[in-house]
Amino acid sequence: MALYRDFLFDFLMSIFEESTQNTSGRESELIACHQCDLLVEVTELEEGSKAHCPRCSHQLLKKPKGGVSRPLALSIAALGLFGLSNAFPFMSFKGGAGQEQMITLCHNVMELYRHDSQLLALTVFGLVIVLPCLYLVATILILVPMAKGQRHPNFPRLAKLVFALAPWVMVDVFLLGILVSLTKISSMAKVEIGLSFISFAFFAATFSMVVSSMNKEWLWRAWERLETK
Ligand SMILES: [Zn+2]
Repeated sequence: MALYRDFLFDFLMSIFEESTQNTSGRESELIACHQCDLLVEVTELEEGSKAHCPRCSHQLLKKPKGGVSRPLALSIAALGLFGLSNAFPFMSFKGGAGQEQMITLCHNVMELYRHDSQLLALTVFGLVIVLPCLYLVATILILVPMAKGQRHPNFPRLAKLVFALAPWVMVDVFLLGILVSLTKISSMAKVEIGLSFISFAFFAATFSMVVSSMNKEWLWRAWERLETK
């Protein structure tokens, strides 16, 4: 009986080892498809590649290019550009009587608040200033230890916060709204865009690159691997 038990154990272990190593020696893992619940064996992905469900084509996993370094570098760059966006004039308006008015990004929000648009001012302040900052700081906090092969003690909370905030950050919508309104204002006054506006445009582009490089499944798996190290 003991001989049979040992044989069965060895047999099961050999199956398990085969299932976690593919022919090229790379590790594999079973991932359940979120759309159709199919269990799919996914071998370790190359950087920049994706794995899809064979039944419904849903994306199972995506390994971003550059691993942790890419979203980390982009997040730091985005935070720096965001700081620049608030440090200089956003744009200036020159009226017919020679009056010139310069505004900053925060000044924009204050002007909205003063002109009886408190709800809109608070929405812009939250979605365009507070949430992007919170998103970037939380992203940097979890990625810096990961880049060093360590784990932030509050990774689960911060990662949940990052992925919950992502759909609410609307810097690109704000930028588009400004561009549309500029076309209307330009007929009434001479508008000059400032350094902050250019910084904000670059910030919006960099921010969307950060969001697209933060793949939820990959990040949680990378964190789990650090636990086992
Ligand atoms: Zn599927």
